[in-house]
Amino acid sequence: MMKLEFSMLLLKLLTLQGLALLCASQQQFDFFYFVRQWPGSYCDSKQCCYPNTGKPASDFSIHGLWPNYNDGSYPSNCDPQTQFDASKIADLTSRIQKEWPSLACPSSDSLNFWAHEWVKHGTCSESILDQHSYFETALNLKEQLNLLQVLGNSGIEPNGEVYELSSIKDAIKEGTGYTPWIECNSDESGNSQLYQVYMCVDTSGSNLVECPVFPNGKCSSNIEFPSF
Ligand code: 5GP
Ligand code: 5GP
Repeated sequence: MMKLEFSMLLLKLLTLQGLALLCASQQQFDFFYFVRQWPGSYCDSKQCCYPNTGKPASDFSIHGLWPNYNDGSYPSNCDPQTQFDASKIADLTSRIQKEWPSLACPSSDSLNFWAHEWVKHGTCSESILDQHSYFETALNLKEQLNLLQVLGNSGIEPNGEVYELSSIKDAIKEGTGYTPWIECNSDESGNSQLYQVYMCVDTSGSNLVECPVFPNGKCSSNIEFPSF
């Protein structure tokens, strides 16, 4: 009798554990926005500071990899227990410094920016990507997506000229196969300019997908692509 009760208890415990594991492994979001930032548009709209490593390359850097829901809302700050731990991405240091610089003031080693991105967004995809995979995934996506070259192939260059928003979107669609979302900001004279490019990525972080939903916001139909 005792033996049977014990076996039943064990079975219950195992079932509960199985359910808990199943819940933990279920993804809690629908897709990622992979958001790229044009440094020239960050710096001419407000004060910016180059990171301690110096002026970043004239290239679209990484802003973030953001878990999102199909209805346009998104989860954030999903795990207060998990803090950013730079030692976990020590092997990625030179890549991340180059590709994911912070332009916020005062000048820094960008650690605060990465910590912010990890805590706000990265912790919401933790069921799929741990901290190291999260940053590595974003770096790999950037390597696969040379936006500056894609735009350049259509004659769109960061030279302070004004381009049609539709031609920028068409160029990215042609070069990558997927429609981007373009976010604009304004320079000091109030001109609408290309600030960020959003592409959508599946929950594994490896494949581009068509965006299920686009963020809010508005560009002029003609926007500037400032130099940096
Ligand atoms: P978000 O909450 O939109 O993911 O990230 C924006 C936060 O990161 C802001 O608090 C901003 O001050 C900080 N930050 C630090 N460096 C940068 C940068 O280079 N670009 C942007 N957009 N935000 C930065
Ligand atoms: P259309 O219907 O011609 O594609 O876009 C009309 C207007 O919607 C554009 O002039 C622009 O203001 C806004 N719009 C269209 N696509 C985008 C986009 O990808 N990003 C942003 N921010 N606005 C867009």
